[in-house]
Amino acid sequence: MRYSALALIKQAFQGNRGWTPAWREPQPKAHYDVIIVGGGGHGLATAYYLAKEFGVKNIAVLEKGYLGSGNVGRNTTIVRSNYLLPGNEPFYEFSLKLWEGLEQDLNYNVMLSQRGIINLFHNDADRDAHIRRGNAMWMEGVPAELLDRETLKKMMPFLNFDHARFPIMGGLLQKRAGTARHDAVAWGFARGADRHGVDLIQHCEVTGIRRENGVVMGVETSRGFIGCGKLGLAAAGNTSVVGQMAGLKLPIESHVLQAFVTEGLKPCIDHVITYGAGHFYISQSDKGGLVFGAEIDGYSSYAQRGNLATVEHVMEEGVTMIPGLSRVRVLRSWAGVMDMSMDGSPIISRTDIDNLYLNCGWCYGGFKATPASGFCFAHLIAKGETHPAARFLRLDRFERGYPIDEHGAGPQPNLH
Ligand SMILES: Cc1cc2nc3c(=O)[nH]c(=O)nc-3n(C[C@H](O)[C@H](O)[C@H](O)COP(=O)(O)OP(=O)(O)OC[C@H]3O[C@@H](n4cnc5c(N)ncnc54)[C@H](O)[C@@H]3O)c2cc1C
Repeated sequence: MRYSALALIKQAFQGNRGWTPAWREPQPKAHYDVIIVGGGGHGLATAYYLAKEFGVKNIAVLEKGYLGSGNVGRNTTIVRSNYLLPGNEPFYEFSLKLWEGLEQDLNYNVMLSQRGIINLFHNDADRDAHIRRGNAMWMEGVPAELLDRETLKKMMPFLNFDHARFPIMGGLLQKRAGTARHDAVAWGFARGADRHGVDLIQHCEVTGIRRENGVVMGVETSRGFIGCGKLGLAAAGNTSVVGQMAGLKLPIESHVLQAFVTEGLKPCIDHVITYGAGHFYISQSDKGGLVFGAEIDGYSSYAQRGNLATVEHVMEEGVTMIPGLSRVRVLRSWAGVMDMSMDGSPIISRTDIDNLYLNCGWCYGGFKATPASGFCFAHLIAKGETHPAARFLRLDRFERGYPIDEHGAGPQPNLH
């Protein structure tokens, strides 16, 4: 069923009884040409592009919970392409370009809001780093704007400009960045994949990977064995666990990241703002809640909930940047499990095992990558060749000595 203004009007006159389910609930078949493990944003996008762009017909996505129950439905919805390093910037810009046409492509409202992101800086060295990043963006053809303190003061008078320790000196603006409704992204890709014949199998946990003579033959699941030609792993925070089923030891650690939302307020913050003296980021949802988060909790875990010490730290950062926040009530907090890579950058790669492909290492920034990740992973699985935008994201970069250390934090996943 195609969504349109006409369909809305028609359904309104029919008491909204004619809407059909957005996707089918098929039983798993005995064999698929391609199986994707993980019904998060990346797995669903991969299946969608495999079917739509690369003409692969017999595809299943296996999800242990319900579609979108992982990080794709837990993130703070920020979409941007303001990266520094050549391994990352073209990839994320490719992603942003896909975002810009995604709603028409999917025939689904993912509520993309290009309200702009402003990264604040608070000292000279920080300013120089932001100028460098802005210049690197321009070199890739991506517009960036340096804002001085006076301009920012007019735009966002509620910020704490004269904090004794962290005075705000300025900010770097990417106007095309913004937010998208995270659940809608999962639902839009799921519906799109289903329309192209992909079987979306929910409540089907992969518990083993069967290999014969070093070649992947299929997966053991909570609903029995399912054979496949090719297998793509897009399990985000559970990547190490799933990888281990095929004997892969991966440069990934799983860490917890929390997010928060306040009670609804009248429109007050019209950009995404990030704090340069810490790692705090905030935006306002369409319902009026302030959505914010900060660093990962700092220890390895598979629990989808965080600890109170981090809650306190996040609140301190928030109030340091916006003192008025202290008068707003926090409504909810939640957490997701991050697949932190050793250089803070993602992996889209074949593996040493025939027919086994890997998509992981998104750290706390994989939502914005969803369309490009799906497209590039589908390209790799279908054609056996790396997509040019993802050419630096191979797994063997760690062996070859080509990490993409975007944050300059070294091989310390908990620092990225
Ligand atoms: C609090 C928080 C804030 C974030 N903020 C941002 C942000 O503002 N911007 C941004 O770009 N990124 C952000 N991220 C990161 C982003 O959400 C993730 O990098 C991205 O969603 C990961 O890819 P995914 O959507 O495929 O993951 P997921 O949605 O986690 O999908 C993986 C799926 O695999 C399934 N799975 C795992 N093991 C198995 C198995 N054995 N069998 C079957 N299925 C399995 C899981 O159930 C899950 O549904 C944030 C993340 C969190 C938690």
